[in-house]
Formats: sequence, structure tokens, C-alpha cells
Amino acid sequence: MSAPQLIWFRNDLRLADQAAVAGAAKAGPVVALFVLDNEAPGHWRMGAAQRWWLHHSLASLGRDLAARGGRLLLRRGAAADVVPQVAAAIGAAAVHTLTHYEPWAKAQDATVARVAALKRYHGALLAPPASVLAGGGGRYRIFTPWWRKLQDQMPSAPPRPVPDLAFAEAPAGDELADWGLLPTRPDWSGGFGVWTPGEAGAAAQLARFLDVARDYDSGRNLPSQEGSSRLSPHLALGEISVRQVWHAVAEAVPAAAAEPYLRELGWRDFAANILDQFPDHGDVPGRAVFDSVAFRDAPDDLRAWQQGRTGYPIVDAGMRQLWATGWMHNRVRMIAASFLVKHLLIDWRQGERWFWDCLVDADLGANSLGWQWVMGSGVDSSPFNRIFAPVTQSAKFAAGDYIRRWVPELAGMRDADIHAPWEAEPMMLRAAGVTLGRSYPLPIVGHAEGRARALAAYAHAVE
Ligand SMILES: Cc1cc2nc3c(=O)[nH]c(=O)nc-3n(C[C@H](O)[C@H](O)[C@H](O)COP(=O)(O)OP(=O)(O)OC[C@H]3O[C@@H](n4cnc5c(N)ncnc54)[C@H](O)[C@@H]3O)c2cc1C
Repeated sequence: MSAPQLIWFRNDLRLADQAAVAGAAKAGPVVALFVLDNEAPGHWRMGAAQRWWLHHSLASLGRDLAARGGRLLLRRGAAADVVPQVAAAIGAAAVHTLTHYEPWAKAQDATVARVAALKRYHGALLAPPASVLAGGGGRYRIFTPWWRKLQDQMPSAPPRPVPDLAFAEAPAGDELADWGLLPTRPDWSGGFGVWTPGEAGAAAQLARFLDVARDYDSGRNLPSQEGSSRLSPHLALGEISVRQVWHAVAEAVPAAAAEPYLRELGWRDFAANILDQFPDHGDVPGRAVFDSVAFRDAPDDLRAWQQGRTGYPIVDAGMRQLWATGWMHNRVRMIAASFLVKHLLIDWRQGERWFWDCLVDADLGANSLGWQWVMGSGVDSSPFNRIFAPVTQSAKFAAGDYIRRWVPELAGMRDADIHAPWEAEPMMLRAAGVTLGRSYPLPIVGHAEGRARALAAYAHAVE
């Protein structure tokens, strides 16, 4: 009988198309391990919304393993210590895991590899970041040439099914319920029922998206519609592989209609590519000049933004959707983020941390890339003086129904007025039951005023 193999799960909580699972299964009977490591990520410890997701995802993976005669061993502590301990306890011939690119994951790998036979596999991304290289062998920092070069490796090999698994004896572990991943007092997760975490939930979400994937390019920017895939939390925890999603969409939809979607999957890889090159991208601006922008210390304004009380309906709708469901539409993420860093002139890292705590799809690469892109501080960003005009954006992308859904105090307003209620005729406000400053806030800053203040702060920084 061959020696046991240890599968070390991280944000790759699936059995299908999971190269570490396949590699271990081929080598011998397996023990499946997940370690809750709150220390290694430091201040990037998993946020509250994603911990809710993690709980349900681990429960789902545990059920899937149990259905095959195994179980998921749960342990808490520094993964760099716990993984070798478990490997030694079961007499593992090797530890099998997927490669991840967060700085703490790299550090864990380096430590584990010193004391155990660590086998790392590609499978969290479309391509390993260091394999997409420019002509001279250098790394890319700009999306478009990187995307073009990635095509040399696309399409990747087709995804692989769940392998046959035999299980080795596993030591005792923790009870998931004892980890306290779910909120209790207060339980703010009532609105999270829109999600079904786990591998089966991810597959069902993909199947739903395939029905509308052909219209992705026209629908994705309209927050009032469900035009995007909403696969981000499933991808963030690795319940589905990006390769599975790529192949399913490429097969279901004609090439021209599939391209805009596949390109977004590319952005996910690109974000990991930037994080791999700049491990502190979540904390340090890609362009040093942004260290000298004099951000405002404005806790009341920050709280108004977090709670969806800025007086700008599109921003408030987005922030409330985020709080209620752990997710926000991409177009609205850009508008809300821009509003914080430009109109309110509050440090992008404050917004980034709020998103980190509230998003079920929190991903260090994508979140830091998104915030630095909006700020204009990233290595591949739009210029600082691109300032989203919330009212124009809200009208252009027909956000009326979205606002009525998430800002119910404006539910009686017509499309013509809902994007900027302070410009509505008093008669219209009365008819809609809205009293500005009472039932719904007046704007906390004027668009022109906020814009001018941001541009002045930036001009001062580059002087
Ligand atoms: C300020 C800001 C913060 C963000 N933070 C995160 C984050 O923490 N985690 C995260 O997954 N995305 C983040 N994004 C990117 C994007 O908003 C989400 O990936 C997208 O809204 C998820 O919805 P979807 O699955 O329906 O996306 P779809 O439009 O269906 O796209 C398919 C998949 O492509 C990937 N993707 C799409 N756009 C991007 C992008 N710009 N960057 C990286 N990957 C992308 C996601 O994995 C997504 O699930 C952020 C964007 C901004 C502007």
C-alpha cells in the first residue's frame, strides 16, 4: 500500500479540475486538510463577509468528501507549522497544494518546503504569472500587451473531472462550528441568502450565466440588470476553476460575444500578475507621487460613504448593496470608489479595507488593482484627473431600478429625477414622498466642488 498524501486546501475549495487533488489522488490515499491561519496574512486577514462564505464553502467541501467516503480535516494556527505537523503525523509522502500569489501564501510555501516534500501545482489562474513574458523576458505591467501575449497559452487544456479518491486515516480535527466564522450578534448576513457557496453552487451559477452570456457585453454595465456572471466569490474561494469558466463560456457562446467576458477573466489573472510583482500593492501606491496627496481625515464623511448616506443615489445604492449582500456591481464599484477618493478626498486604502471586510469576493490582487486603478496610482491606471461624475454615470447606465431597489426611500421617484434628487422640482419630491435632508440626505459635497478640491490636491502633490 502506498504512503498517504496530504492535500492542503487553501482558496481552491473544489474537487474537480484541482491539480493538487488530482496529483495526490494519483500518488496514493489522501488526507484533505484546510488550515484557518489568521496570523500569516497580517492586516489582510480574511474579512467578515468572506468568512461567512468560507464557513459555508468548507461545509460544502466536507459534504462532498464525505459522499466519497472521506472527510475534511480542519485545523487552526499558522499553516507553516500546522501543515508539516499533520504531514508528519500521518506519515505523508508529500504535501500537495495549488500555488497562490498573495505574499503570505508565498511565505507559507517557502517555510513548508523546508521541512516537508511540497508539491505545488498550477491551477489558481489561467497561466502562471511568470510564464507570460515580454520579448526581452521582462514582466508586463500594462494589461493590453499582457493580454495579447497570454493568448499564446489559450485555450488551456480542458478541465479535468473529479479523480477517484482513496482516503487514508486522518487524525482528529476542529469542528467548523467552533471557528466562529458566522456572525451572531448582530447577524448581518440575512441578505446573503442570495448566494449558494460551494462547488455545486458555483456550477449552478455558471449554468445560469451561460443562458445570458451571449449578451454580456451589452448587459454587464447596467446595474439594474443581472448581466454579469456573479461568479467572483466562487472564483475567489476557488470553488470553480477559472479554466472551467473559460471553457464553458467559450463553448457556449460565439467567439466575438465570448471575448469581452474572457477578457474580464484575464483581468483576474492580470491582478495576480501585478500582485506577484508588487507584493505590497495593497498598501503602497504604484506611483510614488501619490504618497504626497494630502488626503482628508474625515471620519464622518467616511462613515456616510460606508453606510450609503452620501446623498448621491448611485453611490448609496452600491454601498447598501455591498452591506446587504457582500457584493457590488462592477460599474458601481468604480463610481463609489471614485467618489470616496476624489469627491471626498479620502485615502484609497480606507475604501480598500472597507471593501476587504464587506466583499464576499475579496481578493488582494483584484481589490488593490481596482482601488489603485480608480485612484490613478496604479502601474496600469487611468490618469488621476479622470473623475467619475456620479450623476452622469447613473443616468447613462440606467440605474433607476437599481436605486429604487437599494435606496427604498427614493422608490417613488421617476427616472428623470432619481439620479440627482436635489435637482428635482419640489412638486416631484413631494409626490415621491421625499424630503431632502430628512428622508434622504442632501449631497455631502457638490460635484464641482469635490472635483476641484481633488484636482487641486493632486496638482499640489505633483508640483
Ligand atoms: C474598487 C474595486 C474593487 C474591486 N475588488 C475586487 C475584489 O476584491 N475581488 C474581485 O474578484 N473583484 C474585484 N473587483 C473587480 C470587479 O468589480 C469584480 O470582479 C466583479 O464585479 C465581479 O462580478 P462578476 O463575477 O459578475 O464579474 P463578471 O463581469 O462576470 O466577470 C467575470 C470574472 O472576471 C473577474 N473580473 C472581472 N472584472 C475584474 C477586474 N476588474 N479585476 C479583476 N478581476 C475581474 C472576476 O473574477 C469575475 O468574477 C473590484 C473592482 C473595483 C473597481
